[in-house]
Parts: sequence; C-alpha cells; structure tokens
Amino acid sequence: MRESEIESRLRAEAKKMGGMAVKFVSPGLNGVPDRIVLLPGRKIAFVELKAPGKKPRPLQVKRMRKLKSLGFPVYVIDGVEQIGGVLDEICAT
Ligand SMILES: [Mg+2]
Repeated sequence: MRESEIESRLRAEAKKMGGMAVKFVSPGLNGVPDRIVLLPGRKIAFVELKAPGKKPRPLQVKRMRKLKSLGFPVYVIDGVEQIGGVLDEICAT
C-alpha cells in the first residue's frame, strides 16, 4: 500500500468524524508533517504518513520533535489499521 492511499483514508475518516485532515506544506520549512488533523472540540494534531514499514527521515524527526516540544500531539501512521486508534486518541486529548 502506498503512502498516498493511507493519506486518503485518513482524510476520509477525519471527515466522517466531522473534522478534517488538511495538507500541511510550509514554504521554506521542509520536513513538516504531511497533515494537520482538526477534530470537533478544538482537537488538533500533526500526522506524518509513511508507506508501510517506512520511517520518518531525520529532518522529519526534527520537525516532529519541535512540534511535540510545543505541546502538540504528533503521530506517525504507516498503515490504515492505525488510523482509527490515532483519531480516537486525538479525540481523547
Ligand atoms: Mg510522509
């Protein structure tokens, strides 16, 4: 399964919950997570999508660490089976 397929599923599932998983691109700042997940009740998290078994690159790890240090939840998803659990966890934060 490709990263883009997992990404599409994340978008669809977030939408089902009444939220959104918007693309995150920051000109001039490479390596930011792929999606910002916004769910009802001011829930926000960043998600890096990966093809199954793939790991974030060092620059991506650095960006994720920074976001975490600011107090934001950050997740890496490399399989569709993880999507439900992650969204539930974001809801519970
Ligand atoms: Mg990615």
